[in-house]
Amino acid sequence: MAPIYYFDIAALVLLFVLLITVFSRRMTRGRENIVFLLFLLVSMLASSCSLTTAIASNWPIGYPVGLRYVLHTCYLLFRNLIGPCYVFYIVTLTDTWDVFRKGILGRMMVIVPFIIIAILLLVVNPFTHLVFYIDDTLVYQRGKLFILLYVAAVFYLSYAMAYIIINYRMLERTKAVALFSLGPLTVISVLVQFVYPMLLVEMFCTMIANVLMLLAVHRPEEAMDAQTGLKNLPAYMEDMRRHALKHKSVGMIIISIANYDSYVTLLGYDRSNELLRRIAKYMLDISFQYRSVEVYHIGNGRFHFVSRGEGKIDLDQVANDINRYLRDGIQLDGYELSLIAYVSVVRCPEDVSDYPTLMRYSNELVKSCDYTGQVIYASKVIKDSMKLVVDNIDDILDDALINHRFEVYYQPIFSVKSQSFTSAEALLRLRDAEGRFISPAQFIPAAERSGKIHRIGDYVLEEVCRFISSEDFAKTGMEYIEINLSVSQCMHKELANRVLMLLEKYHVDAKCINLEITETAVGFSQNILMENLEVLSQAGVTFSLDDFGTGYSNMVRVASLPLRIVKLDKSFVDRMDNPRIKVIVRDLINLIKDVEMEIVVEGVETGDMANQFAEYDCEYIQGYYYAKPMPKQNLLQFLCE
Ligand code: C2E
Ligand code: CA
Ligand code: CA
Repeated sequence: MAPIYYFDIAALVLLFVLLITVFSRRMTRGRENIVFLLFLLVSMLASSCSLTTAIASNWPIGYPVGLRYVLHTCYLLFRNLIGPCYVFYIVTLTDTWDVFRKGILGRMMVIVPFIIIAILLLVVNPFTHLVFYIDDTLVYQRGKLFILLYVAAVFYLSYAMAYIIINYRMLERTKAVALFSLGPLTVISVLVQFVYPMLLVEMFCTMIANVLMLLAVHRPEEAMDAQTGLKNLPAYMEDMRRHALKHKSVGMIIISIANYDSYVTLLGYDRSNELLRRIAKYMLDISFQYRSVEVYHIGNGRFHFVSRGEGKIDLDQVANDINRYLRDGIQLDGYELSLIAYVSVVRCPEDVSDYPTLMRYSNELVKSCDYTGQVIYASKVIKDSMKLVVDNIDDILDDALINHRFEVYYQPIFSVKSQSFTSAEALLRLRDAEGRFISPAQFIPAAERSGKIHRIGDYVLEEVCRFISSEDFAKTGMEYIEINLSVSQCMHKELANRVLMLLEKYHVDAKCINLEITETAVGFSQNILMENLEVLSQAGVTFSLDDFGTGYSNMVRVASLPLRIVKLDKSFVDRMDNPRIKVIVRDLINLIKDVEMEIVVEGVETGDMANQFAEYDCEYIQGYYYAKPMPKQNLLQFLCE
């Protein structure tokens, strides 16, 4: 009976289509792609040999027997090479090459069976006829040791499947299942062909396996960032998860273009995309010089350059090169784009030991560090400005709320007219579990982002109300306490109710509190803020405008708000040695007084300065010259003296 080779034809055609897909999707770079391509090529070669041997069996007697031997030998060689290809593909997908390369035993187990079959059995087969032979009637016959080929095939399959099971955590579930299913598929095909040697289905099943892989497993586009062609955020997360599982030490360069969003607005999507592609190409070119370096674009002008510490790479040098390239700016369509690019070197696990912290570090880099144009070393900044980020400020705030680690300090405010302290500003203090002091300038913005600011703000309000309602307060002779409101407190429609409720609860007169708002809050939520201001003003609460002079201070807007006090920011005080600024400050003070608002000068540190502002007719002076913020008990003592 002649072999039925239609399956082989189908396999060959489809494998060819797969090959074209792989090239047209440009899946030809990178280890995963190359191993998959190899897998495809070997399958194609095996299929074509299978087909030609089948056709050769119909050749007339005159054809040389030697050629038939060559064809059959080639087929069996390629056929048996598929096993190791399968194993190598799994090793690549599980990202365990380095482990595999080091483990001599594992490596030998994969290579030796193939060498035995290929070299020892197949090459000498024309003389020994142990695997197969062509009999006198020119019919292909299996030899005594043919069974060894099956043994090898079973061995590779079991090896591969065991490898998947052992390393299942390195794979996503769907991928693991799809990869695993190739095993049973092959077993079925081999069994069918063993029982019906004329039914050539083995290559057909291999082809199905390849299609399955391409559909369910091998989808590099999933891991690709469409803007730059680099690996994307999900791929980054997956890779970092694996590195963590393997306790690998990783060197990273984090690059964040702080002004990327502005360029999107200014130049439009296409041009800013081109900008990203330029940067991506530059970094990709660098990465090609090293083994085991991967570059990711995790979105919005943020790149992560990851070296797995195998190849010899001078991370600091590369970071400085990248920094210089970005600092020089980029020419695009006749525009010169200057970039505010933060470049930071992070070593894991030395600087940052886990993935969530790393992500936090990367997210907060631009917010927490000043841009200097120099490379930022995580080892340095984590000690000071980024300490809270790495320790997770959210956890610290939770812990502080639960364990009552917040405390309200008070800084007395001096009244020039009455020559005494008639008010104080409530300033929040926080110490973490180790007793380290954390500045409100750091934790207030974090609390604002996480929404915890409302609970914290309520705590301050309640503490102050409790203080005012106590007998101690009456003895101090103070008229009111100033309380800072954060932007998101001002934006909340419940603010007025909360304040009024607390005043009622502690029987506090509304005149005794003064709420400080900032111009930022005014910019954010006009309507709700105005509503809150109106309701509270009607109840008798007064307001101050804090930090006047820091933002885009706008006198028209200031005048339209129902304010009692404007607080001049410390930056005015600091620049009084400039005669022109001195004139501006004097006139500004007059202007504010003309619209019938009072003035508090903040951050006065010397007697000279205090006199100067008293001369300018400012009502109140606050600063270290008189007193620093202090706990309630100290304040009481201070005011008695
Ligand atoms: P702020 O409202 O402008 O508070 C004044 C800051 O200047 C305080 O810093 C105070 O300690 C400091 N200061 C006062 N006099 C002087 C001086 O003579 N020289 C110098 N160099 N500094 C002086 P602090 O307590 O670190 O607070 C920083 C910021 O945190 C505050 O700025 C305020 O915006 C915010 N904050 C503090 N407590 C609260 C709060 O309870 N709620 C909200 N939402 N924000 C708060
Ligand atoms: Ca304030
Ligand atoms: Ca202030």
